[in-house]
Amino acid sequence: TMDFRAAQDSTPLQFIPDDLSLPQFFLDSKHPARPAPAPGAPWLIEDHTARPISFDELRLRTSSLANALSLKWNIVENDVVCVFSPNHVDYPVSIWAIHRLGAIVTPANPGYSADELLHQLHTTKTALLLVYADFLPTALAAAKLAGLAEDRIVVIASVTSPFNGKHETLSKLVAFGSSKEQNFVERKLRPGEAKTKVAFYSFSSGTTGKPKAVIIPHYSFTANILQMAAHYGITDPSVKKKHMNPGEVAVAILPFFHIYGLVVVLHYMLFAGLSLVVVPKFDFTKFLESIVRHRITHLCLVPPQIVLLCKHPAVKNYDLTHVKLCISGAAPLSGELMNNIRKVIPNAAIGQGYGMTETCTTVAILGGRQKMGVVGSAGQILPGTIARVIRPDGSLCKEGEQGELLVTGPSMALGYLNNEAATKESFVDGWVRTGDEVIIKNSEVFVVDRLKEIIKVKGFQVAPAELEGHLLLHPAVADVCVVGIQDEYSGEVPLAFIVLRGDAQKRVSTNPREGEKLKADLKKHVADAKIAYKRLAGGVVFIDAIPKNPSGKILRRVLRDKARQTQASQ
Ligand code: AMP
Repeated sequence: TMDFRAAQDSTPLQFIPDDLSLPQFFLDSKHPARPAPAPGAPWLIEDHTARPISFDELRLRTSSLANALSLKWNIVENDVVCVFSPNHVDYPVSIWAIHRLGAIVTPANPGYSADELLHQLHTTKTALLLVYADFLPTALAAAKLAGLAEDRIVVIASVTSPFNGKHETLSKLVAFGSSKEQNFVERKLRPGEAKTKVAFYSFSSGTTGKPKAVIIPHYSFTANILQMAAHYGITDPSVKKKHMNPGEVAVAILPFFHIYGLVVVLHYMLFAGLSLVVVPKFDFTKFLESIVRHRITHLCLVPPQIVLLCKHPAVKNYDLTHVKLCISGAAPLSGELMNNIRKVIPNAAIGQGYGMTETCTTVAILGGRQKMGVVGSAGQILPGTIARVIRPDGSLCKEGEQGELLVTGPSMALGYLNNEAATKESFVDGWVRTGDEVIIKNSEVFVVDRLKEIIKVKGFQVAPAELEGHLLLHPAVADVCVVGIQDEYSGEVPLAFIVLRGDAQKRVSTNPREGEKLKADLKKHVADAKIAYKRLAGGVVFIDAIPKNPSGKILRRVLRDKARQTQASQ
């Protein structure tokens, strides 16, 4: 057939439990694919305090918090709880507590504006909001607009972000929950139920349109962890030099609110027995210090962080020879960067991972054996995942032929919440359409281009439709199309092609300085309403008309190519 699978898919995929929630699988049960923990190794290490947190402590905090959520708000089956926070040692505690009650977690980017958060609260009908202290003002504004009562906001504090206002704090809730008798009945699943029981609503805009809630069941999540465990053979005695071993230390600097940080870093690395250094905020020199101070061996990063490792002058002052694995994901890593980073972390296996929210992350990742990633490859297909590459007419490509990637396997999401049309477009007969153009060779996936309209800025999704909708609210704008242009640091940045309304058009054509003023104003219009990475850092270009096909659909490719050409000629 023309289906592509992992080279070592002869290794049968380990049993994936279909009757366990994520915390039941993760905290309560044993699994043959899980290595024995290193004695005394903590699960988490708080970066700035170096405070270690053990498995026992995390498990206890989880049940205490679940008890408090049940007692105080009667959080039950399918209630949605939004976690609006950077990485924090109680982030996983929150997730697992919510799951113990049968409720659903929706993780949100703490940098969101009130409107962006509102969209998420509204789409998911959030019943309770857990917010990191620094972002309480945004949470309050969004909650008000969403009609969520103020007493349904819980604050997550830390040494660096203390809190003593009127809201409940997570630590107090944990203490309260542990002081009371257990009030809740742990949600148990029937055989097979984990395949449909919802664990997360994670946001992605998919192939087109605005950000949508991706429905991720417990089974998909567990499956992806076990697929990676099988890929790396972490309990396979025939794998002599393993990519990860219990007692090693990974850095959790990628955000847990994004599927890559949530699955690969937080859950997979812990499953493999590593300790996680939890970092709330990316600051490059502090990051270098942390690598040395905690003797971090495993780096899961995004391309801009690799750029800094390759180019920042401070790097030479740090000994990074103990780093043994570095994975880049969420956006393409150029071959040039891959070659350069090898010199910076000389003893590390280096490569990419490739995945998406709709596939509950990993589709492909660098070699299962002690091997470097292939330059230019986004990774090898995971055991249990099946990939297909299709031509524009839907027929199947041969090995080595370029086309759109379709994938299926045990980790696929179920669709988009309350959006049948988008679900039908991206989830087709059990296959997820990735919207990525690839070539597959020897089970290695080479991502060549992106067919879907999303723009990836530092690994974060920017939905052109969202920015276009917002720009159309500006009085000078008659029509608009947003595309991504290449950027050395961010990978891509958004650029807006704008057709002006008649009066604005007249002003601009008679006075060029008016044009510059208006461009600045349009950029500000976006910057005032949206998180930093959505800003029009690629600029604003006025044009006469947005090219469209006869049925009125924007011909994005035409404008994207035009933008790239202009960029190349500059
Ligand atoms: P997200 O759902 O935010 O993880 O975005 C998924 C999308 O990110 C994919 O469909 C790709 O377009 C892009 N992506 C993720 N990893 C890679 C990679 N290693 N190389 C190229 N693109 C990637």
